[in-house]
Amino acid sequence: MRIDEILSRKRTLSFEVFPPKKDGEEELSKLYKTIDGLKELNPDFISVTYGASGSNARGSAEVAGYIKSIGLEPLAHITGGPSTPSDIDALAKKLVNLKVENVLALRGDRPVEYSEDYCKHFPHASDLEEYLSKYGFCMGAACYPEGHIESDTLYSDLENLKKKVESGAAFFITQMFFDNAYYYRLVHEAKKMGIDIPIIPGIMPLTGVKNLGRIKAMCGSTVPIELRNMIEVYSKSSAAFREVGLNYAVYQICDLIAKGAPGVHIYTMNRADTAAEIILRLKNVINEFFKAD
Ligand code: FAD
Repeated sequence: MRIDEILSRKRTLSFEVFPPKKDGEEELSKLYKTIDGLKELNPDFISVTYGASGSNARGSAEVAGYIKSIGLEPLAHITGGPSTPSDIDALAKKLVNLKVENVLALRGDRPVEYSEDYCKHFPHASDLEEYLSKYGFCMGAACYPEGHIESDTLYSDLENLKKKVESGAAFFITQMFFDNAYYYRLVHEAKKMGIDIPIIPGIMPLTGVKNLGRIKAMCGSTVPIELRNMIEVYSKSSAAFREVGLNYAVYQICDLIAKGAPGVHIYTMNRADTAAEIILRLKNVINEFFKAD
C-alpha cells in the first residue's frame, strides 16, 4: 500500500534498517531475523537505506523485497549520488518487479573528497524525484529540523523542500533530532511557506555513548542541556545509559504525538530489541493514538 494513503487514514509507526555492510548469506539472514522481530511490532512500513555511492544497491532492493514478501510495506531509499540514469532505471525496474510501491528519494551523502561533477545526473533529490516520476511510486524525501548542514539558512533549505514537494514528494521523514522544538519550528515554518505534506519525525534512540559521538559527527544535531547532563551522569553505566536513552526517545515520541505529529519513524540501527523496548513502553499510546479514524 502507498504510504500517502496510509497517512491519510492514520498516524504511521515505522522503522529504518540498513542492508548488511558485508556480503554474504549469514549477514542477510541476521537482518531478516531483525525484520521478522520488527514485524511483531506491527509497523506501517519499514524503510531500507541505500549506499550513497550505490555500494549496497543490490542488497537494498533485496531487503525491500524481503519486507514485501512477509506482508509488510517497504520504503526503499534511493540515492542519486553518482548514479547514471540507467543505474536508476535498473534499480527502479527491480523495485517495480518486487512490487515495491514506496521510495525515499535522496541525493545521498557526498564523500569527503568529491569532484564538482560527483552528482552530475542528479545534483539534488528533486532531480531524482522528477526522473523517478515515470514509475508511479509514492515518493518521500528527507528534511532537516535544524536545516541541512550545507544550507546557509533554514529558510534556504525550506525553499529547497518546496522544490521537493513540487517534484513529487508526498511526505517527508526528518533527520534525527534530540530537541523537539526544532521539529515544531520546521513544521511551523514549512506550513507558512505552503508546504502541507506530512512531516514524519525521525527518532534515534540513544543506546550507547559510542553511537552519540557518531550521530553528532554525522548530522550535527543539537543535544539539549538536560540530555547532555544525563549523558554525563549515566554514561558511567552502560545499562543505565541504555535505559535513559530509551526513556528519552519515549519522552520525545509522547511529546510529538501530543502535539500532532503524523507518525513516528524510529532509526533502529538494525536492533529489533531496541525498537521492541520502546514500543512496549508506548503500548497504550500506540493502541489509542495510532489507530485509523
Ligand atoms: P538534497 O535535497 O539534494 O539537499 C542537499 C542540499 O542541497 C541541502 O542543503 C538543500 O537545501 C540543497 N538543495 C536541495 N534541493 C536543491 C535544489 N533543487 N537546488 C539547490 N539546492 C538544493 N543517505 C544515504 O546515503 N543513504 C540513505 O539511505 C539515506 N537515508 C536518509 C534518510 C533520511 C530520513 C534522511 C533525513 C537522510 C538520509 N540520508 C541517506 C542522508 C542524506 O542523503 C544526506 O543528508 C544528504 O547530504 C542530503 O540528501 P537530500 O536528499 O536531503 O539532498
